[in-house]
Amino acid sequence: MNADVRRGTITLYQADAREALPRYADDAPAHDAHGRRIDYLRVSLTDRCNMRCVYCMPDIGMKYLPRPELLTTDELLLVLRAAARAGFRKLRLTGGEPTLRPDLVDIVRRARAIPGIEHIAMTTNALRLAQLAGPLRAAGLDRVNISIDTLDADAFRRMTRGGDLARVWAGIQAADDAGLLPIKLNAVIVRGLNDHEVERLAALTLEHRWEMRFIEVMPLTGVADVASDGVVRSDELIGRLTAAFGPLEDLGHTASDSATRRRIRGARGSLGFISSVSDPFCASCNRMRLTSDGRLHLCLLRDDELDLRAAIRAGADEAAIEQRIRHAVAIKPWGHGLPDGVLPTLRGMSALGG
Ligand code: SAM
Ligand code: SF4
Repeated sequence: MNADVRRGTITLYQADAREALPRYADDAPAHDAHGRRIDYLRVSLTDRCNMRCVYCMPDIGMKYLPRPELLTTDELLLVLRAAARAGFRKLRLTGGEPTLRPDLVDIVRRARAIPGIEHIAMTTNALRLAQLAGPLRAAGLDRVNISIDTLDADAFRRMTRGGDLARVWAGIQAADDAGLLPIKLNAVIVRGLNDHEVERLAALTLEHRWEMRFIEVMPLTGVADVASDGVVRSDELIGRLTAAFGPLEDLGHTASDSATRRRIRGARGSLGFISSVSDPFCASCNRMRLTSDGRLHLCLLRDDELDLRAAIRAGADEAAIEQRIRHAVAIKPWGHGLPDGVLPTLRGMSALGG
């Protein structure tokens, strides 16, 4: 493999479609060198967004990929078919904001038809969900995660640099009506911005069957200043919510889920705590990311990538792409360096999809 060493310690695996890779058996699901079965692909459909959340994008200096660099619908579907052959079973569509992609409903319909793909979810800011929830459900989308960091419209506008909370609510309602269930709501908690709202957010679960998830802010490139002072650890939140609502019922932790789950006694919904900084879940990691320009990003908090787009554009077929995906799984690194280690520098969260 031709390794291009950039910025000192970062290894970017360049795609050279003519280069010989190790040959992987193609009759079993892909496992990495650490014994983890990798069967969950998070697919970033675009690096663009109609909001600019303070913990995700910097205020100035954002550069977006030129459109010809994005995978076309057909290229993307080729990768998804190859991933299914390599044993991937679950897809999550993300971004940037996935609903900005004009072919989104078509992508869902075609992905749904791929043998082996059992579950398709999407993470969205919900601004366009009121129109799209029904067509997406009809096309085969199973469920959605929706970002909502505060219930105060002014604070929401500030945190998202212009987002309209009423539209997000309409999107949540439309997702509920369309049956995109269970709905999970994501709040990235940043000290001094929205940490005073966790009790109000948690109280949503008293009446709704939603899962309200609290995410520790991660110091991705472009937002390290927000994250460095802003992390609120999950154990602090659990303590506060216990003080407010009484002892929380422990719902455990599914092996491949990033959240540990609790419930307020008597609530219809549940709470989730995603402790990527204070308690990383690398041991149970089952995921890999596909960037919108067609690179497999091997670990969220590292820069290692393997380019599939160059191989596709050089003529690689589904079987050859499957082999590259199996290779990416085989070389997937173990563990990230948070809270003190070397941080990724090549892409921010809006390009990686969370
Ligand atoms: N635009 C969609 C949305 O906001 O739901 C999907 C893409 S967004 C990058 C995916 C998830 O990443 C969201 O739940 C968002 O809150 C989360 N996220 C963004 N920046 C983050 C950060 N610095 N630390 C932790 N989570 C972050
Ligand atoms: Fe856009 Fe999602 Fe990032 Fe907010 S978190 S800026 S909605 S990609």
